[in-house]
Amino acid sequence: MIALFLKPITKPRKLLKYEALLRRLIQIHSAKTIIVPEYNRLHAGFKGEKKLEYYLHLLQRPDYHIIHNLRLESGPYFFQIDLLLVSPKLIIILEVKNLSGKIVIDPPLQQVIQTTPSGEKRTYTDFILQAKSQQEQLIRWIKAHKLASLPVEYLVIMVNERSQVEFSPPKPPRAYESIIRPGLMSAKISSFEKSYNTEVFPKKDVKKLSRKMINKDASDDLDLLDRFHITEADLMKGFHCEHCGYIPLVKNGNRWICQKCHLQTENPALLTLKDYALLLGPSITNQEFRHFAKVHSTDTAKRLLQAQNLPHIGTNRGRVYNLHNL
Ligand SMILES: [Zn+2]
Repeated sequence: MIALFLKPITKPRKLLKYEALLRRLIQIHSAKTIIVPEYNRLHAGFKGEKKLEYYLHLLQRPDYHIIHNLRLESGPYFFQIDLLLVSPKLIIILEVKNLSGKIVIDPPLQQVIQTTPSGEKRTYTDFILQAKSQQEQLIRWIKAHKLASLPVEYLVIMVNERSQVEFSPPKPPRAYESIIRPGLMSAKISSFEKSYNTEVFPKKDVKKLSRKMINKDASDDLDLLDRFHITEADLMKGFHCEHCGYIPLVKNGNRWICQKCHLQTENPALLTLKDYALLLGPSITNQEFRHFAKVHSTDTAKRLLQAQNLPHIGTNRGRVYNLHNL
């Protein structure tokens, strides 16, 4: 039996927000030069975590719980963990790195230098320092929440099989043995299990602890328009194609067919409401919907909104639809 994905590896809301923004932002906007690299970084990170999913399925540890993308509060700050494994003996933080090209890890200088396939050089904070800091913060968090303390370990997993990883100097300190390829994850976990032989937690409490962490997850609900000084006027209006993102879709008989990719979108109103929720907020009125989705008739808008079975308050013109569950 495999471990249980208590919080599965799905696209984080932050990434969905960037996708919605890039789909909707007018073609020429100065903020794009900052938004695109940030989106690429988030997207590569998510793809890396997805790659690791295969190896997590191979783990064969039924008493492990896996939590994806956990963001916990630590005093005035937050810390984020890509993947967390919770077991009766210990907790393991998995920090996933999906970097391409050549990666030189330099422990004495506490830095990592990536040379991308196009020759661009990028510098990162030392991966072990970063993982250690997450470990310390998680231990503190568990203490602060008065939860039974399990030992916390970490692994930094280099998931990009085409990347070339090197240490400089070639023999790194022992701590750097925690930087591994995915194929070694199972063996590393076995060796952790050997050094923590006692089951601190009964199996049923592992689930309880994991659930507590998930309940405290403060997912990053940042306002991208505010962050990049974008106004609603900078966003393209209308229904979008679910296959290629083209805006606007035009109704052809009873069907919404994309003029660009010629594929059909089943429920464009729902997708557009999701974009609205990701970019503009968790509630919408008939008027706001008509403006954002470019629907001219109040009655059509009302019919489309009601078809989504959204919770709502108020009546007639004052009705506000709640988009929280989208
Ligand atoms: Zn399309």
